[in-house]
Amino acid sequence: MNVDGRVRLVMESALTARDRVGVQDFVLLENYNSEVAFIDNLRRRFRENLIYTYIGSVLVSVNPYKDLEIYSKAQMERYRGVSFYEISPHIYALSDNTYRAMRTERKDQCILISGESGAGKTEASKKILLYYTVTCPTGDHMAALGERLLQSNPVLEAFGNAKTLRNDNSSRFGKYMDVQFDFKGVPVGGHILNYLLEKSRVVHQNHGERNFHIFYQLLEGGDDDLLKSLELERNPQNYNYLVKGNCPRISSINDKNSWKTVMNALLVIGFVEEENLMNIIGGILHLGNTQFGEGEEGETYVTNEDQILTLEKLFGVNSSALTEAVTHKKLTAKGEEVKIPLNFEQTLSARDALAKSVYRRTFNWLVEKINQSLAQKVMQKFKDSSCDWPTFCSTTGRTQFCINYCNEKLQQLFIELTLQYEQEEYETEGIAWETVQYFDNKIICELIEEKHKGIISIMNEECLRPGETCDASFLEKMEDSIGGHPHFVTHKLANGKTRRVMSREEFRLLHYAGEVSYNVNGFLDKNNDLLSRSLKEVMCQSDNQILSHCFRRKEVNDQKRSETASTQFKNSLMKLMEILMSKEPSYVRCIKPNDSKQPGKFDEVLVRHQVKYLGLMENLRVRRAGFAYRRRFEAFLQRYKPLCPETWPNWNGCLSDGVSTLVEHLGYTPEEYKLGRSKIFIRFPKTLFTTEDALEA
Ligand code: ATP
Ligand code: MG
Repeated sequence: MNVDGRVRLVMESALTARDRVGVQDFVLLENYNSEVAFIDNLRRRFRENLIYTYIGSVLVSVNPYKDLEIYSKAQMERYRGVSFYEISPHIYALSDNTYRAMRTERKDQCILISGESGAGKTEASKKILLYYTVTCPTGDHMAALGERLLQSNPVLEAFGNAKTLRNDNSSRFGKYMDVQFDFKGVPVGGHILNYLLEKSRVVHQNHGERNFHIFYQLLEGGDDDLLKSLELERNPQNYNYLVKGNCPRISSINDKNSWKTVMNALLVIGFVEEENLMNIIGGILHLGNTQFGEGEEGETYVTNEDQILTLEKLFGVNSSALTEAVTHKKLTAKGEEVKIPLNFEQTLSARDALAKSVYRRTFNWLVEKINQSLAQKVMQKFKDSSCDWPTFCSTTGRTQFCINYCNEKLQQLFIELTLQYEQEEYETEGIAWETVQYFDNKIICELIEEKHKGIISIMNEECLRPGETCDASFLEKMEDSIGGHPHFVTHKLANGKTRRVMSREEFRLLHYAGEVSYNVNGFLDKNNDLLSRSLKEVMCQSDNQILSHCFRRKEVNDQKRSETASTQFKNSLMKLMEILMSKEPSYVRCIKPNDSKQPGKFDEVLVRHQVKYLGLMENLRVRRAGFAYRRRFEAFLQRYKPLCPETWPNWNGCLSDGVSTLVEHLGYTPEEYKLGRSKIFIRFPKTLFTTEDALEA
């Protein structure tokens, strides 16, 4: 099938076409165990702008890095109500199939999108949402919901995405989105769950990277009056929190236009508090510009008071209380409260902790607002969800550790469910199951999450232990408890010697996707919520409506030690897994063709690596364990009945007999196929190709 719609079919029946564009379903590869053949097939298709290929019901997508004319409304129409094999692979086909499955099988569906940074996950999730909002019927009173669903994206991207080295629009948070439909298939509501915003980006960016888009959008796009009221200048280089990456502008991003889009989106979603919101964004920039001096006793003081006065206005807090809280910490000793001055370094960390916390909480508030706007007004029936996660990265800290842990869990779910699905299909069809060998990553999940012994437990124990604990002792603890684990590596060798090539601050995990190195520096700090009680106290008195909502008095009064960040994450992840397990999953596996964001360039080494860590070969093996191809009797008969005089033009008997008659006429041998209860299973692709070619002849 070509983009322009010239070739009609599934499996590219003419041999030359098959040579040129490969097979549209990997299960039809003759040599399905060969990674070379797999990649070759991807490359052929990529060259022809055929970015989508199936592995059975899984959709593999390669980022084209250019706009293809395949997402129009006319294209959407082509995919409506059509089954997978009748038309070329497409994200619309997957969207449509899930939608129909939801309606016919009456079961909640979810679409899991994975792949590395820049592979196209976010774009895929947007295409799915677009498909639903355009093609699904809309009830009169709900016409605006589709628009609100779509408009949630620019807002979330402005606040949650940033330019990184790998992707100019990289999502720095995980997103799970629900779309709810009523029994007529009309979308009636939506809900977003967000995970793990990379809040450290607010105060620091690596070279060549930027802070979250919204800061630059505000400076570029905000009108003069707004900037004046926020006391901001247009040049991003004037702000400490924006200069670290040294790349304020990039050609692929138009901050001015995006600002307009975001403002419009906020309007559609029904925001009325933009002013408060922009006060916070502007306030964070001013907070980053507050400077401190060091007194003789090592205490710190603010050297540019005017910044603090601006903050008083923008954050709606008392300036002297804020100064005091940034430069001191409160301790309770023997029932009495004492104030201890912070040194210079500690003051800077307190300031940055405040910026991060304000941003993270504002982001959560935004998501909450969007959810209120999407909340269904009609009784809920079925759901279709999509889930888009940030990805594996090499040398990293705790946030990446959490993200990789999540990917590990998603992979586990993927393997479990694919195998389970296959087994169930064989069972319902009454065909004997053939066991498949596969790599089970349960061992790595356990290494991380197991009670008492897992990395998260050890981390928590170290955090909660009174007295001196440090990142080094955390590493030692891990060495003691899990040192011998086959997926855990540190500088210590089993024989007591040290591994020279590894630093003493580092540990490595052998994830299913490959080895990732983590630096323990800051692991424990980050695992506790850093914001001091004094700062929370100041913030919860804010006049800014958003901030006073984000910082609750209850939190300050509550003396109980809150759960560590990792435990919170582990729990929210467990919940997510539960949600996903309760739904029928579909998968989109995204692949990035090169590291330079270029169209037409297929970097084989890079692609091979992704094929490996996405577990695609494993997936294909499971799918091909017995049979390459399966099709419902009626579809099979409909297509091939012209090849047999007894089935042409119509077969009047039962479907199973019709298929039997047809394949016997075609000369299929018993080992080539099996008939299930409602489907024919064909073992080798060759059999099918021969049949297809006969049809062409
Ligand atoms: P991250 O994990 O960093 O968030 P991602 O997987 O979400 O990455 P995207 O932001 O979806 O990656 O894609 C990166 C860029 O690749 C997009 O901004 C766009 O330029 C291009 N791209 C992705 N998918 C497509 C597509 N189907 N058609 C055209 N361009 C695409
Ligand atoms: Mg993304």
